[in-house]
Amino acid sequence: MYYVSTRGWSGRVTSAEAIKRGLAPDGGLFVPDAQVRLDPEEILSLSKMDYMERAVFILRRFLDDYTDEELAECVSGAYGSGRFDAAGIAPVVKLSENAYMLELWHGPTCAFKDVALQLLPRLIVKANMKTNENCETVILVATSGDTGKAALEGFRDVRGTRIIVFFPDEGVSQVQKMQMVTQEGSNVHVVGVKGNFDDTQNGVKAIFSDKELDGTMLRNGYKFSSANSINWGRLVPQIVYYFSAYADMVAAGEIAAGEKINITVPTGNFGNILASWYAREMGLPVNKLICASNDNNVLTEFINTGVYNREREFKKTISPSMDILISSNLERLLFELAGRDPEQVRDWMNKLKNEGRYAIYGEEKRKLNEMFWAEYSTEQETIETIREVYEEYGYLADPHTAVGIDVYEKYVIATGDMTKTVIASTASPFKFNRSVAGAIFGEDEIAGLDEFELLELLSGRCGLAVPAGLAGLAQRPVLHDRVCRREEMRDQVIQILGLK
Ligand SMILES: *Cc1c(COP(=O)(O)O)cnc(C)c1O
Repeated sequence: MYYVSTRGWSGRVTSAEAIKRGLAPDGGLFVPDAQVRLDPEEILSLSKMDYMERAVFILRRFLDDYTDEELAECVSGAYGSGRFDAAGIAPVVKLSENAYMLELWHGPTCAFKDVALQLLPRLIVKANMKTNENCETVILVATSGDTGKAALEGFRDVRGTRIIVFFPDEGVSQVQKMQMVTQEGSNVHVVGVKGNFDDTQNGVKAIFSDKELDGTMLRNGYKFSSANSINWGRLVPQIVYYFSAYADMVAAGEIAAGEKINITVPTGNFGNILASWYAREMGLPVNKLICASNDNNVLTEFINTGVYNREREFKKTISPSMDILISSNLERLLFELAGRDPEQVRDWMNKLKNEGRYAIYGEEKRKLNEMFWAEYSTEQETIETIREVYEEYGYLADPHTAVGIDVYEKYVIATGDMTKTVIASTASPFKFNRSVAGAIFGEDEIAGLDEFELLELLSGRCGLAVPAGLAGLAQRPVLHDRVCRREEMRDQVIQILGLK
């Protein structure tokens, strides 16, 4: 199988090359050039496998230039080394009669990005070997919180890689900042930037497009790469857990073999829900994919009206990892909706860039609505959902997950569809403890407590252990104290790598 660009670049590359490069040379995203289908017997056979076997089974169909041994090695490094605190890696927990939580936050940083970011570095290292790459890979990340820490944990001590994470010094939560500045590992660097997330991200983009620096890097034996969610190597590990959830539900007798399910995903950059779309295309019995947004409801509007309009106010919400106005991974779905016509995709992407909007009509819109349903949850609704879900089912949901649950409930009211539904639970409630504690105990009761005190409060009152990745965080030694101005980010890279 080969990978082609969504924007018509004439080349085609192996999966190793696609993973190494991240973006296609024309700025498009890499997509497989052939469809992968599993037959019903294959899907059922997953019920008898453990998570790592399931992962190899799915990955090998897309990454067919990797050997089975290479994939098994990557998978056991990611999921078999005790970094996840659930044996099943992504366990399914029954919430109510028809709703099931797919818990994706049992990894080292307590959010779903670990599932992909524990595997991606290993896939990159193998890709470098397979393509005879001589340079050391330097991963640069600009983060608003979750991605940076998950990438640091994924790349720490991975041979042949270095990682530099920039975060807005005043723009992340207390827990998120402590998670990053206490990061261990011989190849990791963390730098605070005086400014907001946009400043930080623009700084990293400027470094990526700096031709002179690129030349200096090459002479010193380094090459930049990115770990963001448009990399195919981040998407494909996410397909695995939807099959895994289905296999677990069949094995537990919650659904019959072949029975259709719905999948609800709290969505930002459209990576996680796109993975569920690939699973559906591969033959996983799925009725609807339910796209849940917060107040940044650009995708709700797109799916319901066909108009994608990024010209709107950016809202800071209590589900910050979904505060996104341009959902990059949507481009892969657009490519398929347009019948794999790159010219059409280029047209839409140019309109988005130049006019801030584009629209889809007719057959493309009809196909979209056949597969997707969308709604959003306001801040108040999200808070109420956290409280109600805790009171009714004893389940602690983080704000991102609560957006998913609220939108699922709206779907049931709107459609009456009682199909069993898997809801992606994307972060541990302990990670976003201020909003969670405020929702269930009331703001008065938590006034004046810092996030570390809130961890203890939540743990004690709800009878749940603080996850290992967050326990004792306040006492860990600070290992990274670099802070710079936006204009100094390039110099920081030169210093850190010792470039000459
Ligand atoms: C990144 C993230 C999301 C959004 O996922 P996308 O793949 O970007 O749509 C949702 N919830 C949490 C907790 C996240 O970290």
